[in-house]
Parts: sequence; structure tokens; C-alpha cells
Amino acid sequence: MVLRQAFIIGGSRGIGRATAVKLARLGFNIVFSCRSISREAEETRNAVVAAGAKCEIVTFDLADRDATVKAVEAVIEKSLPDAVIYNAGIARDNLLAFMTHDEWDDVIRVNLDGFYNAVQPFIVPMLSRKSGRIIIVTSASGQAGQAGQVNYSASKAGLIGAMKALAREIGKRNILVNAVAPGVIETDMTSELPKDKIMPMIPLNRFGSPEEVASVIGFLAAEEDMYIHGQVIAVNGGLVI
Ligand code: NAP
Repeated sequence: MVLRQAFIIGGSRGIGRATAVKLARLGFNIVFSCRSISREAEETRNAVVAAGAKCEIVTFDLADRDATVKAVEAVIEKSLPDAVIYNAGIARDNLLAFMTHDEWDDVIRVNLDGFYNAVQPFIVPMLSRKSGRIIIVTSASGQAGQAGQVNYSASKAGLIGAMKALAREIGKRNILVNAVAPGVIETDMTSELPKDKIMPMIPLNRFGSPEEVASVIGFLAAEEDMYIHGQVIAVNGGLVI
């Protein structure tokens, strides 16, 4: 098997961790990012190494453009990844009527500006190499809208638009760009959601696991026979049909 490299932006926990382990099992060496080297990040690195891959952690805050570009350029200089997964994201839920400036700004800065900050530096090197996969983790909230999440839904819908436009820009150079849109997945992000209120909306009658999202990301990143491009693949148990 040819060893490849994947860069997972937001790989320390939840869906990012499951993706790191999945890609390690599929033969990728892993570089992942997070804000700081936490116990969670160490656990992810251990899990990746246990899966038989090399693992490096880089730290930066996606909302800090200069720091993000500097860190990403250092990753590229060492070795241009075959697959880039933009997974990091935050939620600061509130009804729009009561939403503070910070709740709006924080979500847009991390989820949407962070995409520009962290992914844009890869485009020219990937265009020169004429290969690559870019996978963006958006959300069912970006597809359907979710009350209480106007900021988050806007950022995730923005990522869908960005993914589609980018797919049109760079597909000719054999760079495949797609998005995965999870529904409600068991991670830190959803740990305080009222399960009893949400469950009736999910036809599969359960939350998803990070591994169930990671398997789709792994397919989009690793499968050789691939004609999927510019698409949003929903992983949501039927939440949005
Ligand atoms: P999570 O467990 O909260 O993990 C978030 C990841 O993003 C962590 O690696 C975190 O790093 C990183 N991150 C957050 N803010 C950052 C910042 N300012 N700069 C750099 N890195 C930052 O999230 P998750 O539930 O796995 O979600 C992963 C993605 O799936 C997100 O984009 C989320 O919006 C999306 N999603 C999740 C669900 C769900 O139900 N869980 C549903 C739909 C979509 P640190 O460890 O350093 O904080």
C-alpha cells in the first residue's frame, strides 16, 4: 500500500479523532490540528499510532489568520498532504433575537473564516501537483437551517457554497472537493442537547457515532475509483431527507 498523508483540521476530539483513526487504518499518515495539546489530543495521537500510522499535532487558533497560515504553510513545506479535511467547528447557540455580537462573530470566524485561513494555502500547491482531495465537514443545520442556530447554520451553509464553488474552480486539476453533512452525532458538541426532544425528528431513532461520519470521510479521501465531486453527503440518520 502506498502511504499517503492526511491533514485533519480539528482532529483532537469527536468526529476529527474518529477520522484520524479511520484514515490511519486506511494507510494515511496523519497530521492533525487543534488549539492546544490537550489530553484529548494526546489520546488521539496514541490512537492513530496504535492504528499503525505516524501522527503529528500542530496547534493554532483558526480565528487567528496569521497564526493559521503560518502553521499550515509549515505543514505544506514538510509534505503536501494528499487529503485535507476541514472538520473544526464550534456552536454558540441562541435565538437570533437574543444573539450577542460575540456569539455571531465567534462562530463565523472559526467555522467560515477558519476555512479560508486554513484551506486556501493548500490550493496552489495542490493545483501544481494536479491531485488532492478536500473534504469539508458542514452540517444538517447548513442544509435545512436550525432554530437557535442562525449563526451556525449560516456558517455551515456558507461552507456548502464555498465547497461547490471551489469544486468548480479546481476539479479540472484532479482535485476532488466534497462535503459531509452530519446530523446529530455523539460528541462534546452535542452532550448537552435535550435527547428526548430531538429523537422524534430522527427516523433511525438514535444519534450517530463519530465513526459513522469518519467512514464516509474515509471513503471520500481514500477510494481510488472516485467520480463524486462538488457534493454534500448527508450522514444524519434521516434527519434531513
Ligand atoms: P468537537 O468534538 O467539539 O471538536 C471540535 C474540533 O475543532 C476539535 O478538534 C477542536 O480543537 C477544533 N476547534 C474548535 N475550535 C477551534 C479553533 N478556534 N481553532 C482551531 N481548532 C478548533 O466537535 P465535533 O462534534 O466532533 O464536530 C466536528 C465538526 O462536525 C464540526 O465542524 C461540527 O460543526 C460538525 N458537526 C458536528 C455535529 C455533531 O452533532 N457533533 C453535527 C453536524 C456537524 P480543540 O480540541 O483544541 O478544542
